[in-house]
Amino acid sequence: TLADTDPMEIDPNIRFDNVGGLDDHVKTLKEMVLLPMMYSEIYDQFKVTPPKGVLFHGPPGTGKTLLARALANECSQGSSKVTFFMRKGADCLNKWVGESERQLRHLFEQAYEKRPSIIFFDELDGLAPVRSHKQDQIHASIVSTLLALMDGLKDRKEIIVIGATNRIDAIDQALRRPGRFDKELLFALPAVKEREEILKIHVSKWEKQPSPPLITRLAEECDGYCGADLKALCCEAVLHSVRRRYPQIYKSEQKLLIDPAQVMVKEEDFFKAKSGIIPASQRVSRCPG
Ligand code: ATP
Repeated sequence: TLADTDPMEIDPNIRFDNVGGLDDHVKTLKEMVLLPMMYSEIYDQFKVTPPKGVLFHGPPGTGKTLLARALANECSQGSSKVTFFMRKGADCLNKWVGESERQLRHLFEQAYEKRPSIIFFDELDGLAPVRSHKQDQIHASIVSTLLALMDGLKDRKEIIVIGATNRIDAIDQALRRPGRFDKELLFALPAVKEREEILKIHVSKWEKQPSPPLITRLAEECDGYCGADLKALCCEAVLHSVRRRYPQIYKSEQKLLIDPAQVMVKEEDFFKAKSGIIPASQRVSRCPG
């Protein structure tokens, strides 16, 4: 449907500053995307073409979508706003023959009309699932349409295609050849230093900040936590502190008069929260039966 190609409104507050522990990726994207979009004259002068496809890969919750959104905002300067289109790979598969291809072409046309644009394919592997022979042909046709569209991006500096996946091995090899998604960025689980940065970002808006040694200790003890787990930890800690300060809050049927200034998130709240969170990396998916 046409609604599927509507650009996404992104929270304008999401900037590179809100992304923790991915400094190298930020630097790479600045060089690869931001500079070519903002200073196209350099590329015109030297007749060099910046890459048009970037593949973000790594475990869930490591900031792939977050960084793509931040990039769209960072590229938007003054009156030139970057339009952000987001699609899930599997949503591009339509049961009607040729419909998926038509929708992909429509998406690229829209992106061109509204350029500068970023097209973000989340779960790009959804375009290349393991399939039966007959379905393989359908998938091959969709992938070749996508490749042709990427090859044909006329104003390459003004449209960038980003794909994200948790399973890089499931990506069709044709998509990974030079000239397509030719830059690959690995989003690994954050190490201790990065976890500290991410925690700091998620408490940065709090009026009363947890002490720096507490943040350091939490970062040390949260081995295996992804960015999304650390965000959940901060959120749960707030709930524990509210419950501690206003124990009646969950019992009362009426809205209580509470004063947020009275709520102080303490060490015990973080550790209680931590005991209730199984990091995504340790969650075992169980097969029924
Ligand atoms: P998936 O592969 O499941 O789509 P993802 O890698 O795209 O996951 P995001 O959707 O970007 O993960 O992360 C979810 C949320 O977790 C973000 O909106 C953000 O609040 C938080 N988060 C994840 N990584 C980071 C990070 N590096 N810095 C700050 N916050 C992060």
